[in-house]
Amino acid sequence: MFKADLHTHSFYSDGTSSPEEVSYEAWKAGVKIFALADHDTTDGVLAAKEACTKRNLDFVPAVEISTCEHDHLHFLGYNIDLNNQEFQNFLFQNRQNRLNRIRQIISQIAASGVDLTEEDVFSLASYTVSRAHVADALKKKKIVSSRQEGFRKFLIPGQVGYVPSAGVSVIEAICQIKKAGGLAVMAHPGLVQDVWNFPAWKEAGLDGLEVFYPSHSYTLKQELLKIARKYDLFATGGSDYHGPHAGRISSLGVNIPIPYSDRLLRKLLNK
Ligand SMILES: [Zn+2]
Ligand SMILES: [Zn+2]
Repeated sequence: MFKADLHTHSFYSDGTSSPEEVSYEAWKAGVKIFALADHDTTDGVLAAKEACTKRNLDFVPAVEISTCEHDHLHFLGYNIDLNNQEFQNFLFQNRQNRLNRIRQIISQIAASGVDLTEEDVFSLASYTVSRAHVADALKKKKIVSSRQEGFRKFLIPGQVGYVPSAGVSVIEAICQIKKAGGLAVMAHPGLVQDVWNFPAWKEAGLDGLEVFYPSHSYTLKQELLKIARKYDLFATGGSDYHGPHAGRISSLGVNIPIPYSDRLLRKLLNK
């Protein structure tokens, strides 16, 4: 087994730790290859890279892109050229769309009689603002008791603060990653099994599949490995770590069986 973590978040999006802290925690957990994959921003990547270099931990620059086709249909871009201006403009536009969505969410929640302002939410976000910050603001005001409850009571479909995702189409997400010289990997396929469309995504340039993910069962992982073989996708893995105060999984690193880890290292590090 080989321990990797190619999917983590810092406070540059909805994580609660700095890029340095996340890298350090990953190294402490015995991770051998690490990626910071914040939502719609690469601003934390250089700091994470430096922290990894200091500890001889292999590092891969990454980003996670949301799509408009499902709240959890996300794509990871690895080894993108961070200086590609067109890609940075694309991320900037995504962040603007996010901001508009969050404003709409806040105004719907406020209109329902809950005391919530933009200031309550934006003061909690360092960089990329997300629904997690809305949930955190509701928690801070003691309207809910956790980030999860905030989502459940206000932010999911059917609740007063639900606004459809402001992301791009899947094809656009994949194409933008490829145009910036990156590898496109589908994140947490187990969360969106009802919308799988591998033939079309492969056609658009999909390279990999996040098979090894904490909530994926053994059976699901076997099914995903079969799909990966069928469409010639490399298997990756990550914890989706969001930091110690995010109310979700708080351990870093996932185990990747050896033949898959070898291919992953070749793909991401040219090793
Ligand atoms: Zn995601
Ligand atoms: Zn994520």
